[in-house]
Amino acid sequence: MIELQNIQRTFQVGDEIVHGLDDVSLTIQSGEYISVMGPSGSGKSTLLNVLGLLDKPNSGNYLLDGKDVSKLSELQQAQTRREKLGFVFQAFHLVPRLTAAENVALPLTLAGLDHEERDHRVKEVLESIGLSDRAHHRPDQLSGGQRQRVAIARAVITKPVVLLADEPTGNLDHPSSIDVINILKDLNKQGITLILVTHDPELGEKADRVIHMIDGKTK
Ligand code: ADP
Ligand code: MG
Repeated sequence: MIELQNIQRTFQVGDEIVHGLDDVSLTIQSGEYISVMGPSGSGKSTLLNVLGLLDKPNSGNYLLDGKDVSKLSELQQAQTRREKLGFVFQAFHLVPRLTAAENVALPLTLAGLDHEERDHRVKEVLESIGLSDRAHHRPDQLSGGQRQRVAIARAVITKPVVLLADEPTGNLDHPSSIDVINILKDLNKQGITLILVTHDPELGEKADRVIHMIDGKTK
């Protein structure tokens, strides 16, 4: 369902050309749980950004659901992103002034979904991640692990087919990390394709398949 063909992503830094991704080809089946591991600077985030249509490769093709999305316009890519992809980042990126429920609702609010349907889905998702009793708390009133759970709820409320998580446990203690990984694993069991970047071998090895990266290459 996801296929990268000969992806190159280079960055010009001063006089130097840095290879973010160097001829990466990769096939990921629908419903797989993949972890991406490798040292800092090996291209993990660049890979996730390309998969998430947040970054454009210099060359190569990207097929998503059999469609070459690398050739789409910015606008069409944004639409594909909204419809099919969910994101979770290390730093949560919640809106500080909004409550947990309002943060989770945000993608549906922006999509103009009617209030009743929206509130129903928010309630459901908060329940499924065990945060119903924190619905009206703001991010600064939540622990790191709870914040990341809110961010996961926000990422999946639009029912994406692929969930991309870049070091989602990087700011968390060990128990919260296990918590977050278990939630991601449950979502995968329910059918979402999960692509998880982590440098923690204990977490990475729980995946069905590990992709190792080094110097912008996969092996
Ligand atoms: P990782 O997530 O594995 O730590 P990245 O994908 O962030 O690695 O980076 C891969 C390589 O590409 C690194 O050498 C990094 O410095 C470089 N890089 C990433 N993004 C940029 C950018 N926007 N501008 C210049 N170089 C970048
Ligand atoms: Mg990174």
